[in-house]
Amino acid sequence: ATPAATMVGTSIGAKNGVLFKGGDVLERAKDVDTVVFDKTGTLTTGEMELTDVVPLDGARTATDGGNGTATDGGTQTVSSGTEPATDEIDEETVLCAAASAESGSEHPLAQAIVEGAEERGIALANPTEFENVPGHGVRATVDGDEVLVGNRKLIRDNDIDPAPAEDELERLESEGKTAMLVARGGSLLGLVADADTVKESAKEAVGALHDRNLAVQMITGDNERTAGAVAEAVGIDPANVRAEVLPEDKADAVEEIQSSGSRAMMVGDGVNDAPALATAYVGTAIGSGTDVAIEAADVTLMRDDPLDVVKAIRISDGTLQKIK
Ligand code: ADP
Ligand code: MG
Repeated sequence: ATPAATMVGTSIGAKNGVLFKGGDVLERAKDVDTVVFDKTGTLTTGEMELTDVVPLDGARTATDGGNGTATDGGTQTVSSGTEPATDEIDEETVLCAAASAESGSEHPLAQAIVEGAEERGIALANPTEFENVPGHGVRATVDGDEVLVGNRKLIRDNDIDPAPAEDELERLESEGKTAMLVARGGSLLGLVADADTVKESAKEAVGALHDRNLAVQMITGDNERTAGAVAEAVGIDPANVRAEVLPEDKADAVEEIQSSGSRAMMVGDGVNDAPALATAYVGTAIGSGTDVAIEAADVTLMRDDPLDVVKAIRISDGTLQKIK
């Protein structure tokens, strides 16, 4: 492009909150054939909310087929059934253990659990030890017991069988929620789930990219079922979803997509996404994204709007010429 065209593109971009890091990026964006979205904070708002607390015990799993367990009020008690009272685990026990353990974490999943507990008036204990296990969950010592909160892998890696929670996990995940297992002292206590909201314009953005014959993919650290539910909500083919990708493996996933000759635009918001943004043909940081993501990116979308991905491409190919 001529210097004048670059200036025009850059200025249209700036007026639309689409910042290109230089003229060559502005040039490249139009040649993208695949757009890879991060899920959390990119296609979704990332504003998690605690939605479910599910105690696990023999009586409950045997008598409750998965109905009526989504209790966000925290007031429901577990029916006593035939189990002795000492074996009963109630919601407060599950949530208190989970939130106490998560109080040391800054992960959005953790913050939603802590806030949910506070809203329900549950007093938290301060963990005496805390360890963040990236991509898996947390481990903390609470009131002398080891508490784990995280995914199946975290639980399995600590020699606890997640199987008794599988039905509940699947039920929550198929609703698009991120379900986490809670264990204390070597055994499962129950589950907590957080839900995130799909951004209003996400589906329209994916549709507009498809209309331009671009392939659209999603990469997430979240599990397959949750990721699939979100993909379906925004119109991404489940076959184009890579789930349970560890933070350090996101860049490899982008490399793999590009190894067949694709030119990928990676769109992400988090620290986790920075290496993938740097690897992609065009890295795009979205919204109030972390500084690390913005630094690694070629394009920054100032607004939190996935439709601006389409704008960036249209500014690059010269079809978006009006300054809004
Ligand atoms: P994302 O790519 O969605 O940001 P992460 O890589 O941070 O996801 O985490 C992947 C998965 O690991 C989460 O879906 C969750 O199951 C588990 N996990 C990560 N951090 C935590 C945490 N603080 N508490 C519980 N589970 C967690
Ligand atoms: Mg994210």
